[in-house]
Amino acid sequence: MLLRLTILPGDGIGAEVTEQAVLVLQAVADVFGHQLELQQKLIGGAALAAANDPLPADTIQACLSSSAVLLGAVGSPAFDHYPRQQRPEAGLLRLRRELGAYANLRPAVCFPSLITSSPLRAELIRGTDIMIVRELLGGLYFGEPRSISGEAGARVAINTMTYDEPSVERIARVAFDLGMKRRRRVLSVDKANVLECSRLWREVVTRCSKDYPVVQLSHMYVDSAAMSLVQHPRDFDVVLTENMFGDILSDQAGGVVGSLGLLASASIGGKVWLYEPVHGSAPDIAGKGIANPLGAILSAAMLLRHSFQLENEAACIENAVNETLNQGFRTADLARGTDKTVSTSAMGHQVVETVKKAALKERLA
Ligand code: NAD
Repeated sequence: MLLRLTILPGDGIGAEVTEQAVLVLQAVADVFGHQLELQQKLIGGAALAAANDPLPADTIQACLSSSAVLLGAVGSPAFDHYPRQQRPEAGLLRLRRELGAYANLRPAVCFPSLITSSPLRAELIRGTDIMIVRELLGGLYFGEPRSISGEAGARVAINTMTYDEPSVERIARVAFDLGMKRRRRVLSVDKANVLECSRLWREVVTRCSKDYPVVQLSHMYVDSAAMSLVQHPRDFDVVLTENMFGDILSDQAGGVVGSLGLLASASIGGKVWLYEPVHGSAPDIAGKGIANPLGAILSAAMLLRHSFQLENEAACIENAVNETLNQGFRTADLARGTDKTVSTSAMGHQVVETVKKAALKERLA
C-alpha cells in the first residue's frame, strides 16, 4: 500500500519524538511491504520563525493532499508574548479546524511493566484501559465572542462556551461506536449542575444512547470525574467529554498511567485525519535528547489502524513498544529509583529493532 503522509514536527520535543516515530513507520513499512511517501512541513513556532504564520498555506495544502498527518507538538516560550492569532498554538487549532477533525481519541493504557511508574498503587492502576473521546472543534477554545478589552487595571476578558446539538450528537456517536467495540460502557463527563452547554450535552448524549441499547451510559460532573480517575482508574472505559474537560482529563490520565509522554492521540472525523502525541513541546527538556518518543510512536500505530485499516501493522508497533518496556528500557520520565535511562533516539532505535525482530520471527515460524 502507498502511505502518503505529511509530517509536521513542530516545536521543541515535537521534532525529536516525530523523528523516532517516522523511523518506526519506515521499519514497519519495510517489514510489511508498504511504500512510505513523506512530505515534511512547518507548523507552530517553527513556521512563525520561517514564514510569520503558525500555519502556512503550503502546510495546509500538503495536509489536505495526504492520506494522514503525523504531528509532533507546537509551542515555544519565545512566542508567549505574541497576540493570540500569532502564537504557535493558533496554528494547531486552525489545522484541526481546516481538517474538520472533531473527534479526538486519547487512549490511556497501563503497560504491565510500567506499573511502578505510576504515582498510584499497583492494585489501583493494574489493568487500566481508558479511551477518552474529546470533542475537538467546539467549546471555549473556539467560541465567539472572545476578547480582552478595557483600560489597564480594569480590563475584562471574555471566552464563550458554545455547543449545538449536531456537534454533540456526532461526537457522542463516535463514543458509542467505540463503546460497542470495547467494554460497552460510556461515561459522559460534563458540568450540567452549572453550565447550559453541559445541560444540552447531557440531553443529547442521553437521546443518542437509545440507539445503542447494549452500551451502558452514565454521567458524571467533571470535578467528580477528576477525583474518580485517580481513585478508581480501572472503572473507566470510554470517557466522552467536551473540548476543555477532555484536554485536562487526558493529561491527568497520562499522569495516572505513568507519563504524559506515553499518550497517543488520533483526531478523526474530518477530511484527513491527524495523529499526535498528547503532550506539548516541553520546552523544559527540549534539545536534551531525553524526551519519551513512545506517545509519538503509538500515534503512528493509531495512524496505521484508523487511516489505513492496517491492524497487524499497528499491533506490531504496539507489541514492540510493550516488549521494549518489558526489556527495561526507560526514558527519564518513566524511570523510577535506580532504573537506567536511555535517550529519545535509543528508545526509538529499540522499538525499530524489536519491530524487525518480530517480523523475522514471524517469517521463520
Ligand atoms: P507539555 O506537555 O509540553 O509538558 C508538561 C510536562 O510533561 C513537562 O514537564 C514536560 O517535560 C513533560 N513531558 C511532556 N512530554 C514529554 C515527553 N514526551 N517525554 C518526557 N516528558 C514529557 O505541557 P506544557 O509545559 O504545559 O506546555 C509547553 C508548551 O507546549 C506550551 O507552549 C503549550 O502551549 C504547548 N502545548 C502544545 C500541545 C500540542 O502541540 N498538542 C499540547 C499541550 C501543550
